[in-house]
Amino acid sequence: MKKPKLIWLNVAVFVITFLFAAIAVPYRAITHGFDSAEIIMALLCFIYCGMSITAGYHRLWSHKTYQAHWSLRIIYALGGAFALQNSILHWSSDHRVHHKHVDNNDVDPYSAKRGFWYSHIGWMLREYQAHRYTNYENVRDLQKDPIVMWQHKHYLLLTISLNFGIPLLFGLWHGDVISSLLLVGFLRLVLSHHTTFFINSLAHIWGKQTYTEKNTARDNGFLAFLTFGEGYHNFHHIFENDYRNGIRWWQFDPTKWLIKSCEYLGLTYKLRKSPEDKIEKARLSMILKRSQQKLSEHPDAEQLLERLQHEYDALINKLNAYYDIKKTLIANKRDKLIADVERSELVAQYKELKQRLIDQQQSWQFFIEKLA
Ligand SMILES: [Zn+2]
Ligand SMILES: [Zn+2]
Repeated sequence: MKKPKLIWLNVAVFVITFLFAAIAVPYRAITHGFDSAEIIMALLCFIYCGMSITAGYHRLWSHKTYQAHWSLRIIYALGGAFALQNSILHWSSDHRVHHKHVDNNDVDPYSAKRGFWYSHIGWMLREYQAHRYTNYENVRDLQKDPIVMWQHKHYLLLTISLNFGIPLLFGLWHGDVISSLLLVGFLRLVLSHHTTFFINSLAHIWGKQTYTEKNTARDNGFLAFLTFGEGYHNFHHIFENDYRNGIRWWQFDPTKWLIKSCEYLGLTYKLRKSPEDKIEKARLSMILKRSQQKLSEHPDAEQLLERLQHEYDALINKLNAYYDIKKTLIANKRDKLIADVERSELVAQYKELKQRLIDQQQSWQFFIEKLA
C-alpha cells in the first residue's frame, strides 16, 4: 500500500528541533557550559508545558474529569501552545477518538497496534488523518469554551511567540540569549514532546495490565515519573472520567496533586472519581483471570480452580456488603436522615463488615501468593 504524503512542516519541526537538542545543546554544554539559572528555567518551562497538557488538554478538556476557573484555563491554554502540540480543540478531538476506538488501526489516530514508531511520532509525519482533520464533531462541548476557541484561532501566533519569546526574553534578562534559546527553547521542547509521546507509544507497550486486558494500555510507574503521572494508563483507559491516573497515595501523579491542590484554592471544582468498588472489582477480576490461566496446567487444576472461584466469590460478596453499607452511611450523613441511636448501630455494622472484608482479603491474598 502506498503511504500518504509527508507533512513537510511537521517533519521539519521535529527534525530541526531534535538536531538542535541532540547536537547543539551538548556542544554548547562542553564549549561554554550552562549555569544553574538556565537549567532551572528550562526545567520550570518543561513542567509548565507538560502539566498544561496533562492537567489541561488531557484531564480537563479531553475527559472533563473536573472543572476549572477561567484563569487556570488561560494558563493551560498558553502552556499547551508553548508545548507545541496543536490546539486544545484539535488535540482533544484526536484524543477522544483514541479512547473510543483504541487499538483500531483504521480509526485510532495513534493506534499502538501499528507499532512503536507510528504511535510515538509517525502518525504526525504523514497525511494519515487528512479525511478528518477539520472534523470537530466530537468536541462540540469544547467549542462553547471561549478560551478554547480563542486559543484555536490564534494558535500559530501563540505558539511562535511563546516558543521564541520566552527563551529570548529570559536570555536577554539573564545575559545569554544563545544558551537560553538552546536550553529553554529547543531542549525543553524536544523533551516535552517526546515524554508526552511516550504516553501514546510506550504506555501502550510496556507495563502491567492491572485493570483490563481489553486494550493495549499499560500501568508503568517509571513512565508516570516522566509524564507527570500519566503512566498509569491502563487505569486511565478503563476509568477515563477519573481526575486521577495513579490512584494510590504512593503512586507518582503530580497532575492529580495539582488538580487537588487547586481545589483548595477554588481554582478547580467538581473533581470526578470512579467508584472504589468498581475499581477494586476490575483489579480482582484480572487477578482471577491470571490465576485461572496459571492453574489450568496444574495437576490438581480442577480442585484448585474450584477453591479459587470460592475465594473470589466470597471476597466479592464481602466487598459488596461493605460498600453497600458505606454508601448508606454516607447518604444518611449527607441528608442527616437518621437519629443518633440508629446511626451508631449503622456504624457498628459498618465496622464489622469492614473487618470481615479485611479478613477475606487476607485469605484471598494468602491463596494467591501460594499459587505464585
Ligand atoms: Zn485519555
Ligand atoms: Zn492511550
